[in-house]
Amino acid sequence: MQALIKSGDLPNIRKEIVEAGTFRQATTCFPSTTGPAYLPFLTGCFPGTINIPGIRWLDKGEYHRNRWGRNSFRSYCGYEAGYFNADMPDDRPNLHELFDRPFNVFSMITRGMPKGHDLTAKVKPGLYLRAHLRHIWEPVDDASHRHLMLAMDQDPEFVFAVFPGVDSNSHLRHPRHERTIQAYKFVDYSVGQVAEKLKRLGRWDETLVILTSDHGLSDTHTHLDLADFINRRGMRTLAYPAIWTHRPKASVMISGNAAGHVYCLQNRNGLPLLGDELLHTMGDIWPALIAEESVDFVTWRQDQTTYAVESAKGRAWIQRQGNGLCYLPQTGDPLGLGRLDTPLDAQQALDATFGSDYPDALVQIEQVFNCSRCGDFLVTSKPGHDLRYTWEWPEHHGSHGSLHREHILVPFIYNRKGWDDRPARTTDIFNTVLKWAGKPIQENTDGKVLC
Ligand SMILES: [Zn+2]
Repeated sequence: MQALIKSGDLPNIRKEIVEAGTFRQATTCFPSTTGPAYLPFLTGCFPGTINIPGIRWLDKGEYHRNRWGRNSFRSYCGYEAGYFNADMPDDRPNLHELFDRPFNVFSMITRGMPKGHDLTAKVKPGLYLRAHLRHIWEPVDDASHRHLMLAMDQDPEFVFAVFPGVDSNSHLRHPRHERTIQAYKFVDYSVGQVAEKLKRLGRWDETLVILTSDHGLSDTHTHLDLADFINRRGMRTLAYPAIWTHRPKASVMISGNAAGHVYCLQNRNGLPLLGDELLHTMGDIWPALIAEESVDFVTWRQDQTTYAVESAKGRAWIQRQGNGLCYLPQTGDPLGLGRLDTPLDAQQALDATFGSDYPDALVQIEQVFNCSRCGDFLVTSKPGHDLRYTWEWPEHHGSHGSLHREHILVPFIYNRKGWDDRPARTTDIFNTVLKWAGKPIQENTDGKVLC
């Protein structure tokens, strides 16, 4: 996005948004994947806070109570996408519920939408299915643009519009493939049309436009199928779409294909496995996983206040001490952050890691473990690699989901100047939008106000 704006390929975004406003970067959440990574914008909360820690997940407690219960495991990639709204806790309002005249174009978060305001509700299933089968996403972006323009005619107070073409073409082809670049340019065309229309309606000056993304992307040349990897080593593994696996000992739930939750299903109390108990349960699989070429790092709960991170570079602890987090290398420094032994609050932890290879790693690892649907451990793949192959069709040539900066840093572009310029998270967008619109701030979120 940055390069394309600089090279003049996105003239409308440059003129209407960047030159009149601000171009900066923000961090998204871990796992950096569509669905969970919409929660920061729309609820101000991390996926762990909402208990939706991946595009696929399992809940060990629910699973052991009733394997085939509705809330035992989930994949939002198929028909279960329709459960997303109900999976969000009632006491966390989303922006659609906080504005009087909200409109939605293609987001799966539509709870509280007034009747008729989810503009693409009827056309989405058919359009997405056709695009998926034919590998052609241009008609979806085109529909996105047309519905966005229709929203402008209906006196909107808030519009959330998704253009899925950049992500889809990146997975199908390459993050910098010509077709992907075309998808960026189409967003630019749409921004130009929206600006022109709002000017004509006399609403441009009073409209805040934010362009952002739920994740970054990197190209993918090598696949490791994490479920197969564990299965072949003697732990029968439950993974989508093969959810009927008989008496599984583990489950793998992949997000964005560069991150995966792993659940150990033998301990029938459904409680998470901590520290040595987890390593003992995984046995020889553990060192094999750490040594595997495609694996970037593995992270797990060491005890109630400590999260461990291990890669071929060694092991470190992320530890909660009072109101802050520390990063303490033990046998090595897998995240390359050095020793951070003074407890850092959420903003300090972001500041200290924003320029690193793993922006916001401390807060993101803690938040994802902070829910009942998180795995006993998470695995991430290195840039260039991903973790899902056997059941992935079509083959992915681009991935996201991990904590690497290529996936975590997203554009945060808006047509205003002078906001607080400290490192930002996408969770900050939620209350910033509310305040900007003159609405009351929602307490009890994971974000801050920037305007
Ligand atoms: Zn994607």
